[in-house]
Amino acid sequence: MYLQMEIKSYIPVKIIFGKGCVFNNKEVFKDTGHFPLIITGRSGAKKSGAFDDVINALAGGPYILYDRIEENPKVSAVEDAAMMSKKFNCDYIIAIGGGSALDAAKAIAVLAVTNMSGMDLFSKKIGKALPIIAIPTTSGTGSEVTPYSILTVDEWQTKKSFASEYIFPKYALLDPKYTYSLPADYTISTAFDAASHLFESYFSLKSTNLSQMYSIEGIHSFAKAVNALQIKQFDEQSRNDLMYASMLGGIAISHTGTTAMHALGYSMTYFHKMPHGFSNLYFVKPYFQHMMKHEKDKTKLIIKELGFSDIDTMCDFFLEKMERPVLNQEQCVKYGAIAMIQSSIKATPGNLETEDIVRMYKEAGSL
Ligand code: NAP
Ligand code: FE
Repeated sequence: MYLQMEIKSYIPVKIIFGKGCVFNNKEVFKDTGHFPLIITGRSGAKKSGAFDDVINALAGGPYILYDRIEENPKVSAVEDAAMMSKKFNCDYIIAIGGGSALDAAKAIAVLAVTNMSGMDLFSKKIGKALPIIAIPTTSGTGSEVTPYSILTVDEWQTKKSFASEYIFPKYALLDPKYTYSLPADYTISTAFDAASHLFESYFSLKSTNLSQMYSIEGIHSFAKAVNALQIKQFDEQSRNDLMYASMLGGIAISHTGTTAMHALGYSMTYFHKMPHGFSNLYFVKPYFQHMMKHEKDKTKLIIKELGFSDIDTMCDFFLEKMERPVLNQEQCVKYGAIAMIQSSIKATPGNLETEDIVRMYKEAGSL
């Protein structure tokens, strides 16, 4: 039988990956604009060396700095920074940091050139944004290559993403040396986020042959860093492998979005302060058991590619690296209802219903 293939792909990001890529490509700043608003968290951009490299690359050119983006950024913070951009008439954004700074920058890029409020980002059509240069200092979210931004919405007691082709960064400058200063625990939790993107995109009902190619290449690169993650020591090679895996995870989810692991994970971050990557892999066991029923070949391929003998050994590898809160029945039901509003649930194979999601919380939360 002839199977018709349908593929849609649009990743308009100019990607430059490699050591020294910021200074060696300083013309990208002039190519993007004249007066940037630099968005960072409080410390990571400076500790990583990326901030200094950017200032050197700007060669004395003017800039405004907003360095108050918190982890899991809130809508109020992006509104604050966007007002600053408007006040100083900035014409592009340089985002330096982990996914929190990069995602905040994407929201700021939209709010800076529109009259939208932060909450409008989740409902109104986006038609423009300032151009963004994204420089990651963690290897996890892949936000430098995605059209997504994830913000914490207190009114809804969860995190919510919005997507727009206008928030794809114009340039992604990836230098693995910017992650050398990232402590081991953050390196592990962010690497788990990259892994979850690669796995979830591979399983997604929206995946295509093309998106799966990115997932498999990324899983292959992540596999090379499994030993470093196990001994919690990261050399240049493993930092490189993780940044490459993270970027590929970003490209993969740009095609497909995420699936149930992310939808379930948001409540673990919101209510239990779990780092984003851990909050996803907290569900590794029920998620992979579910996948073994619905996508056996893909599940086996991941386990084999990562070098594990079976599903349990693989799950232990992830679970033994995180602190796991125990959940009671009331929490499982409440979080289950919250997870069901995420559209990524529907992209998960196997028709997940509320009772399946609540069961996954119970299984993950009973140790
Ligand atoms: P993060 O929240 O951006 O950063 C975690 C911590 O690491 C912060 O305390 C940060 O410090 C510090 N840090 C960052 N780089 C450092 C470095 N090189 N050296 C030392 N410290 C450093 O973590 P993340 O996991 O990268 O991002 C998580 C966010 O991304 C979540 O909100 C998640 O929902 C989102 N996300 C987005 C996408 C997407 O496609 N857009 C996909 C998945 C996840 P400072 O804050 O002080 O700088
Ligand atoms: Fe993620």
